[in-house]
Amino acid sequence: MSADLLKALGLDAANSGSYLGQGEWSKTTDAGLIESINPATGTVIAQVHASSAADYDTIVERAQAAFKVWRTTPAPRRGEAVRLCGEALRRHKDALGSLVALEMGKIKAEGDGEVQEMIDIADFAVGQSRMLYGYTMHSERPGHRMYEQYHPLGIVGIISAFNFPVAVWAWNAFLAAICGDICIWKPSPKTPLTAIASMKICNAALKEAGFPDLFFLFNDAGTELASKFVDDTRIPLISFTGSTAVGRAVGERVARRMGRSLLELGGNNAIILDKTADLKLAIPGIVFGAVGTAGQRCTTTRRLFVHQDIHDDVLATLVKAYKQVEGKIGDPTQASTLMGPLNSEQSVKGFLDAIAQAKAAGGTVATGGEALTDRPGNFVLPTIVTGLKNGDTVVQHETFAPILYVMKFASIDEAIDAQNAVPQGLSSSIFTADLKAAEKFLSAGGSDCGIANVNIGTSGAEIGGAFGGEKETGGGRESGSDAWKVYMRRQTNTINYSDSLPLAQGIKFDL
Ligand code: NAD
Repeated sequence: MSADLLKALGLDAANSGSYLGQGEWSKTTDAGLIESINPATGTVIAQVHASSAADYDTIVERAQAAFKVWRTTPAPRRGEAVRLCGEALRRHKDALGSLVALEMGKIKAEGDGEVQEMIDIADFAVGQSRMLYGYTMHSERPGHRMYEQYHPLGIVGIISAFNFPVAVWAWNAFLAAICGDICIWKPSPKTPLTAIASMKICNAALKEAGFPDLFFLFNDAGTELASKFVDDTRIPLISFTGSTAVGRAVGERVARRMGRSLLELGGNNAIILDKTADLKLAIPGIVFGAVGTAGQRCTTTRRLFVHQDIHDDVLATLVKAYKQVEGKIGDPTQASTLMGPLNSEQSVKGFLDAIAQAKAAGGTVATGGEALTDRPGNFVLPTIVTGLKNGDTVVQHETFAPILYVMKFASIDEAIDAQNAVPQGLSSSIFTADLKAAEKFLSAGGSDCGIANVNIGTSGAEIGGAFGGEKETGGGRESGSDAWKVYMRRQTNTINYSDSLPLAQGIKFDL
């Protein structure tokens, strides 16, 4: 099955990891080999030849040349290029969604959903290509006009995480493309095949319509080329999605060279379950948020604050729901599977370490808590831990696995304070039928996260909103709303159409 799938997406048993532009894939075979491992079986799906330093230089030079053409191409025409990419992705949705499931380990429905996000952001970007608006201002001087405009920025460097192996690239690349930028992508070494397949799909569509190169790709076997990328002054914006530890270092390095960075880092997301909550909505929202993608979403629900009056009943209901999920753990490419594997052995170790730490801190495993050793692959049980405090070290940390810490609260104020009392600030939600509690949660004194929801969970954001978070989540925003502005440089223009040269603020400078 996997050989047919690879073939359908133009992939082989061994693939070049570097798209050099001008229809050319690198022939480098001596810069390291990246193995794409199926997390459900531990077997190698295919191999990818990593990029050399020479490949990297060719890519940046060709991207610079491409930018000179693209920056003066009218924005609606740039939108047409992205529209064609979206159409091509529609045609390949099933195959690419299956490859996401095979290589990353998320279930097929979520793999398809991820490709749908690429299509959605393509549609959004096409519309946005006709709306790159700036303000006009009234000048304080007679005979003067002021306005601001947005110009293309240059080369956008995209470094992506394994858990959204294709959507994160599209959120950045399609908006950057309509803004007149050229993108260079360095995907996660855990998911190189989905990246190569996405590039092939989009670049073939662009080539067929006669568009110049917009999207380049390199793969790094280690971090040497990625570090060079981060430090490269020819790249005005680095959009980084990944862990807080790596993102912090990337942000510091980009800042040192006065570059711009867009950081989308780790989350430690919470749901507050008020005693007035409609449990018909809340229970599936919590289970999907905590267990979906086997807990490997940046927006995964990791902490649950339950009102003390309903705590015991809710816990019993959740444990029952988790047991149902346990019966549907397995091959992510099968439609009946609800939870696939973790992406790597390293992630299983992280899961087991967190459980051990939780127990040592006095926590009780209400359900789960174990890796599944009766089969190959990186499978673990979805897990609920009770009896810990929000301030406990393990609760403060993002463990990228399906572990939910359930804690009690007595008042909404106390719950909001606890939900905010972590270093991360990505996604948050409250389930309540109490208008005052909902409004308080959304108010300036409420959730401190970039995303705050009422009566829906923490995960599964739509592309129309700006996506990102505060504090150690990095402060970046991408996808919808006005997130496009980060991919452009802003310029304020003043035009004097009078016969005199009045100075601003009434200053006199008589010569
Ligand atoms: P990671 O930090 O290990 O890797 C992310 C990327 O950084 C990879 O491409 C990796 O190869 C690259 N990288 C590693 N070292 C580097 C270096 N020195 N210089 C430049 N690049 C380097 O993260 P991961 O394990 O792939 O992804 C999981 C993390 O990503 C989680 O913390 C998750 O919350 C976060 N994430 C955040 C968002 C968001 O939008 N906020 C979305 C998805 C994932």
